[in-house]
Amino acid sequence: MKSWISRPVPRLPGSMPALRLFDTAKGGLVTLEATGEQSMYVCGITPYDATHMGHAASYLAFDLLNRAWRDGGQQVSYVQNVTDVDDPLLERATATGVDWRELAASQIKLFQTDMEALNVLAPDHYVGAVEAIPAIVPAIERLLRQGLAYRVAGGAGEPDGDVYYDVEAAGKHSADAVGAWTLGTISGLSDAEMLELFAERGGDPGRAGKRQALDPLLWRVAREGEPSWDGGELGAGRPGWHIECTVIAHEYLPAPFTVQGGGSDLIFPHHEMGAGHAYSLAGVPLARHFAHAGMVGLDGEKMSKSKGNLVLVSRLRAAGEDPAAIRLAILAHHYRSDWSWTDAGFAEAKARLQTWRSAAAVAPAGSAGGLLTRLRTELSNDLNAPGAVAAVDQWAASALGHSGAGSGVAGPGVPGSGSGGPGSAMDTALVSDAVNALLGVEL
Ligand code: ZN
Repeated sequence: MKSWISRPVPRLPGSMPALRLFDTAKGGLVTLEATGEQSMYVCGITPYDATHMGHAASYLAFDLLNRAWRDGGQQVSYVQNVTDVDDPLLERATATGVDWRELAASQIKLFQTDMEALNVLAPDHYVGAVEAIPAIVPAIERLLRQGLAYRVAGGAGEPDGDVYYDVEAAGKHSADAVGAWTLGTISGLSDAEMLELFAERGGDPGRAGKRQALDPLLWRVAREGEPSWDGGELGAGRPGWHIECTVIAHEYLPAPFTVQGGGSDLIFPHHEMGAGHAYSLAGVPLARHFAHAGMVGLDGEKMSKSKGNLVLVSRLRAAGEDPAAIRLAILAHHYRSDWSWTDAGFAEAKARLQTWRSAAAVAPAGSAGGLLTRLRTELSNDLNAPGAVAAVDQWAASALGHSGAGSGVAGPGVPGSGSGGPGSAMDTALVSDAVNALLGVEL
């Protein structure tokens, strides 16, 4: 599937120091080895609804990682999927009387337009679940042959033949190997916690005929009125969500790849199960590191379609808001924190953007190099965007103080030195390039 178009990233003098990132599976900060080549898989959307602020914040977090790696001279291979057939999409299509393919296509287009507007670098491969089915089917057939998957008999209105992953057998299969997966390796959750989340997040713990409640679906055989594809030995049907990501990652990235990313609601079951599938299939972990972005609410409440309180990037854009200000509003929060979108926060981001633009125009000679170093230091420390934003704030206040032009424009400002002057074109260019390349904000 076609991806969106990245805007150019300015090249900066010098380079980013070694990156430290919080690894969910290890429960702490790790230093990412600068091997020269990095690879990243970030789970994509299920295209049944427009991009809300939670999605945007999650893709932006991994965009910071992508930019930091590039600044550190690393080649980055980036893959993102799009779950273009799944229950929520089919349900929404039925509920709204729209063909599911049309719904998916329109929402994918909207998502890509949002990403482009937010200056999120495009993945090298943007892969749909449907186009990945020919690779997914043999993977599931292999899991069946290995005895790590099984077919469930029908009954109670369900047909025979849905295929499930046997989490217990898979855990035993790999038990003593280095880096092996057993249930809980990624999430570190207790059985009770897993069971609760599994039911909440699309799992079917009560499905009759399963060996364990937490066994996830690999293949759903065809049902009347649902789309299905050729499944070889599996029979016609469609894939489960976790195996989709595993197989796409195996197709396009090294095994293991460097970082799997997504929102914290993907830790379990999605990333847990995907890691299990990968270990069963390849005998090595799916990824070296697993990183997760926090959840975004609205005015202190969870953002959800059912509450009708989704803040949509597309709606803000349609209202004429500057996407750079949306980006800056998100960057004011650390990617791992849970936070709330508020009008006040957005107003602050808009004022900040204006201040930065005013300051960049009058950048004092010799001031940009120090700012660049500070930005790199902050971002190399677990992508500390709020620290980077504060660094630009301080620089801007000082620059505006110097020029004597900025006090009262916006933001705090510091007492000016009164030296005045038109600023240095070289510093203006370097500050703009640094803020663009590292934070993705165009001044
Ligand atoms: Zn995924």
